[in-house]
Amino acid sequence: MTDPAASLESLPLRDDLRGMSPYGAPQLEVEVALNTNENTHPVPPEVVEAITQRVHDCASSLNRYPDRDFTALRGALARYLGHGLDEDNVWAANGSNEILQQILQAFGGPGRSVLSFVPTYSMYPLLALGTGTEFIAGERAADFTLTAESAAEQVRSHAPDIVFLCSPNNPTGTALGLNVVEAVYEAGRDSDTVVVVDEAYAEFARFGTPSALTLLDGRPRLIVSRTMSKAFALAGARLGYFAAAREVADAMRLVRLPYHLSSVTQATALAALEHHQTLLATVEDVKMQRDRIVDELKRMGLTPAESDSNFVFFDCGGDAHAMWQALLDRGVLVRDVGIPGHLRVTAGTEAETTAFLDAVESFLAR
Ligand code: PMP
Repeated sequence: MTDPAASLESLPLRDDLRGMSPYGAPQLEVEVALNTNENTHPVPPEVVEAITQRVHDCASSLNRYPDRDFTALRGALARYLGHGLDEDNVWAANGSNEILQQILQAFGGPGRSVLSFVPTYSMYPLLALGTGTEFIAGERAADFTLTAESAAEQVRSHAPDIVFLCSPNNPTGTALGLNVVEAVYEAGRDSDTVVVVDEAYAEFARFGTPSALTLLDGRPRLIVSRTMSKAFALAGARLGYFAAAREVADAMRLVRLPYHLSSVTQATALAALEHHQTLLATVEDVKMQRDRIVDELKRMGLTPAESDSNFVFFDCGGDAHAMWQALLDRGVLVRDVGIPGHLRVTAGTEAETTAFLDAVESFLAR
């Protein structure tokens, strides 16, 4: 097979795309895949049935374009979120990656910038690049935490057009206090900075970790982004959404592709929302396995970060790549996020979690 990087070199690509690598979480065939923070529980039969019925009902109309403004879905998402939101406050797209891309298309672009605090979700710089937006890598403390003072100071000094706050943060797993969101929003007042809180993992928060949805009232530059890919166990359906002031949702119409959400996607998401209690029933199990991973890794002498998400980031006390490979050799795929000495593992079912913990224990005992 030809080397894909070499063959790309021969294309008349944009200069800023030359030498870049695509997003590449490996999709390997392994027994225990704990590398992409999916909910590893399959969709329950009752929800499969409901999705099948709704998709069946719309299939004969697939000759027509879908509802361009997906009004029913926006209403259902608003009801799910609560907080006094209505359909005009909500927007949806094919995964929260597309949500973030549309926000960059509307508020970023050439001559504009987006600030985020690294290490954070690895797609942010790639989405910035794709939309011609300058990516500014803000800093965290050595233990990867971010204080309100530091975040606000960095916003004031860079005056970015957009800030991405990932809470809980991927890959470190910890949620931000609302004081950080408030401070960043205030610091961006003079520069009219749009503040996006990416809450892809919000449903896994530990008790008492509040959502930035509670801050939306009176903050027209604040956007809270969510997804059905994690807690809802619907990564394959590709449905992300946000809540914000209605003008912000309206602005997305300027940049979205016409009919970007297919009728099948809308039908699937509506069925899932009708059964959200059944779908979200696995969240408590996942949180239990997540807490078990944190406790067990500590018992083994490793240093995991506190997690509000469905994954755990941990200092593996040595060569992360050697541990990654040893786990893979035992059929367990975790994520090497490129931070020396650290790995990230998704909390799976009880059996998957046991397989991961056993593999770590035997690697450490080697
Ligand atoms: N934000 C964060 C923090 C993520 O970790 C992910 C998925 N890994 C996404 C957004 C995108 O998810 P999706 O496009 O599936 O909604």
